[in-house]
Formats: sequence, C-alpha cells, structure tokens
Amino acid sequence: MLKCKHVEQRADALVDGERLPFGEHLALRAHLMICRHCRRYLRQLQALVRTLRRSPAPLSDTHTEALVERIVDRQSE
Ligand SMILES: [Zn+2]
Repeated sequence: MLKCKHVEQRADALVDGERLPFGEHLALRAHLMICRHCRRYLRQLQALVRTLRRSPAPLSDTHTEALVERIVDRQSE
C-alpha cells in the first residue's frame, strides 16, 4: 500500500491531470479511497490551484510555494 508521503509527492501531478502510469494512478486512487488525510490534502491543493488560475495577476513561483507550504503546514498540525 502506498504511503501518504508518496501521494503528497504526486499530488501536483494528480491536480494537473498529468498522465501517470496506470498502476501508479490506480494505487494513488486506492489510497485516496481509504485515507481521509490525503483526500483533504488533495482537495485543498485543487482549491488552491483553481484560485491561482483565476487570479488575474500571475503569482510568482515563490509566492505559490509559500501558499502551498502554508497549507502543508496546516495539515501537520
Ligand atoms: Zn494518505
């Protein structure tokens, strides 16, 4: 079974709709079905990406990273 860390590492690919190898995609989905923590993490990441895409002024990578880090920090509280 995949670990949460693995899902976190691939979360951006999932959110971007990037094509993952079939086996990996399946394993990630299976993990998301049983892991509330990762489901919530992915949902927040998706919301963040949507917000950023709607944002009229493109944010710098540094700003984006800071936002993501803030969300990740909140996760581990
Ligand atoms: Zn998990």
